[in-house]
Amino acid sequence: MSEGENMGRVGEIIETGAAILRSGPICDECLGRAFAKLGHGFSNGERGRSLRTILSMIGVSGRTGACWVCDGLFSRVEDFSARAVAAVEGVEYESYLFGVKLTARLRQMELFLGEKFPTGLAEPLKHAFNREMGKAFEARVGHGTLDLTHPHLSFIINLERDRIELRVLSLYIYGRYCKLVRGIPQTRWPCRLCQGKGCEACGFTGKQYSESVEEIAAAPFLTAAGAEKAHLHGAGREDIDARMLGTGRPFILEVLSPRRRTLDLSLLQEAVNIGSAGKVEVSGLHFVSRETVALVKETHAEKTYRARVCFESEVTPADLARALSSLVGTIHQRTPVRVSHRRADLVRERRLLDADGTLLAPREADLILRGEGGLYIKELISGDGGRTVPSLSERLGIASYVAELDVIDVTSESFPDF
Ligand SMILES: [Zn+2]
Ligand SMILES: [Zn+2]
Repeated sequence: MSEGENMGRVGEIIETGAAILRSGPICDECLGRAFAKLGHGFSNGERGRSLRTILSMIGVSGRTGACWVCDGLFSRVEDFSARAVAAVEGVEYESYLFGVKLTARLRQMELFLGEKFPTGLAEPLKHAFNREMGKAFEARVGHGTLDLTHPHLSFIINLERDRIELRVLSLYIYGRYCKLVRGIPQTRWPCRLCQGKGCEACGFTGKQYSESVEEIAAAPFLTAAGAEKAHLHGAGREDIDARMLGTGRPFILEVLSPRRRTLDLSLLQEAVNIGSAGKVEVSGLHFVSRETVALVKETHAEKTYRARVCFESEVTPADLARALSSLVGTIHQRTPVRVSHRRADLVRERRLLDADGTLLAPREADLILRGEGGLYIKELISGDGGRTVPSLSERLGIASYVAELDVIDVTSESFPDF
């Protein structure tokens, strides 16, 4: 840019600045914001003050009073930052992010400023305010870094309600669990009668089952993290009456609003395993990101089962072997009757990858079955009244049913195991 052009530009800035000043009382932050893209290393306040000084030298001075654009918002930064600090007392964090919910009036005035004085150099009120909040907060607490994607603390300054809304990033811990006893659901199951409110039938616990893998695994974490709530996100789930053995099932424990984030996971693993009194065992715990939850939940892992199967009449070892090997392949399963109240009624195709068995008695066998994720084993054996085709009942010509079921392996390369 030539010197002449530069001088022309200075003239424009002075002119626009003077027009803004004449429009009503305005603070240095808002005046400076209108020219935020000019110069590096200045704050908007400094830009505004400099421009005001120059303008006053040529006889243009602004009116005094509350800023017509922000109504003195920037003078409240210190107050808000003090409140933000108080809100996170005792909370462990490394990073933060500020957001703001403007009042309708502020939104209007901001729009009006941009329309009336289109400098092409302005910084939006929200950006400027959030940045100033971050600076003031960091100055008070003496640590912390701005994080735009996964901040430990997310503050929203709600100006409409004059309050600070705080969200603390959950902790996400990946691991595998074994469920060594039958009769425990994977997650907390609200009482069917009261939907969790608490009634006589559930002994005012609000729960259908007195404990769950989720509650057993979460208890030591809640104490250690100073949190009140945790969710267990499993890579699928076994039936309540099935055990989960072998290397266990992948899960992510999400600890909500933790006050402490530095946790000794090997100590907590021990605490879960001792505290569960032989019911649940967790292993391989490590911290993961929030995105891993979707990965673990949506992975269709291959599963291996051990099933104790009973037959309505006697079966020979040869019949069993023939029936099992003929089952390997594609299975058509219409949504089982027992889950049809919560799953869409449709026919799924899932593959049975491997089937092996030992006859323990003429009417009883032990089977090892490996199948694609989503294959229903109880129905693969019983046939579910013709809804699963083929089935062991159909291939044997003898009604068969699962008496006991254990999941012994859950495998996928997608799982973030060590
Ligand atoms: Zn202002
Ligand atoms: Zn109840």
